[in-house]
Amino acid sequence: MNILVINAGSSSLKYQLLNPETQQVLAKGLCERIGIDGKFTYKPEGKQAVKEADVAMPTHSEAIQTVLNALVDPANGVIGSMKEIDAVGHRVVHGGEKFAKSVLITDEVMAAIEECNPLAPLHNPANIIGIKACQALMPGTPMVAVFDTAFHQTMPSVAYTYALPYEYYEQDKVRRYGFHGTSHKYVSQRAAAMLGKPIEELKLISCHLGNGSSVTAIDGGKSVDTSMGFTPLAGLPMGTRAGDIDAGIMEYLMNKYGYDIKEMLNILNKKSGVQGISGVSSDFRDLEKAKSEGNQRAALALDVFHYSVKKLIGSYAAVMGGVDAVIFTAGVGENGAGDRKAIVSGLEFMGIKIDDEKNGKRGEEIDISAQDATVRTLVIPTNEELMIALDTAELAK
Ligand code: AMP
Repeated sequence: MNILVINAGSSSLKYQLLNPETQQVLAKGLCERIGIDGKFTYKPEGKQAVKEADVAMPTHSEAIQTVLNALVDPANGVIGSMKEIDAVGHRVVHGGEKFAKSVLITDEVMAAIEECNPLAPLHNPANIIGIKACQALMPGTPMVAVFDTAFHQTMPSVAYTYALPYEYYEQDKVRRYGFHGTSHKYVSQRAAAMLGKPIEELKLISCHLGNGSSVTAIDGGKSVDTSMGFTPLAGLPMGTRAGDIDAGIMEYLMNKYGYDIKEMLNILNKKSGVQGISGVSSDFRDLEKAKSEGNQRAALALDVFHYSVKKLIGSYAAVMGGVDAVIFTAGVGENGAGDRKAIVSGLEFMGIKIDDEKNGKRGEEIDISAQDATVRTLVIPTNEELMIALDTAELAK
């Protein structure tokens, strides 16, 4: 079974064709600058990557057609015809309270996704364009929507309710939703497999630390709390996002500098986080380098990030009444040995202790716990595409 996974943004589209049964990736790549000057990247398994500039892709429709052409190309293709694509899995950022699971896309589902647009105005409309373009080009092929928010729909009201006038929840659906759900779900399932225990018996804290970061408490396989909120701006300080701040700061800065709300949000989304504190970069590798050269603000940015993750690990252990394993995933979580070390240092009292040699290994699923640790620390490369393909295959059957 071959599943095409599509992650459509406003001017870009990531794709991957994979077999969820064998986990073999047949081809993957990216369409960028859709509607501008079209850039296309295509990497078939075992062959050279193809990169093309100035590809005519005025809309997502031509972008997807370009992908399909490449997949069936006699020289570089990986399948004989489009009939070999059994289903398409679409990443959709926001499913609101309507979707607690992935779903087969019907007209009603499309309407319900559209209703979620105001909750993710930058992302959902692009996801919908991607779905519609695929539907037009591949009529009759089952399409599945996999939501970033769905995994967190198991959160209890005590975790998702904001202390605002309750009508904002009732009428306007203002609540914590959480994101990165596909990644948190995938790594929690892998953790259970690594630990050789049913997920229902495990209390896990999943740290998805990348350019965007979130931590999730997963009790018995269900998300019970997560650090992102109504939007992906909440929680940890990130590459360029502020994470949690006192809402009063906005009024103070807007009054002082005459910013309008758009300018303020641009600062919070694009100019804050470790980039904002350091003034150096949003990339943790650059921060490490700057720190090693004596840059105090880069050191502070890293300290603030590590401290924030540590605080969440402590609070989520409290929320679940214990923890069996802490999982690190995504760019920083998978590669940043120094980041992992800094985050867990001081948590020995909870039984969290890592082995420095194991912590130095890269690129594989690994238990990096010290021998006398009572809580496991796991590094698990995330694989959102595989999770999307698995859900899609299941629903398309
Ligand atoms: P992601 O959003 O999951 O793709 O993660 C991207 C981030 O991972 C980059 O911005 C880097 O900051 C971080 N990253 C990648 N490699 C390393 C590394 N070796 N050490 C620390 N951070 C890394």
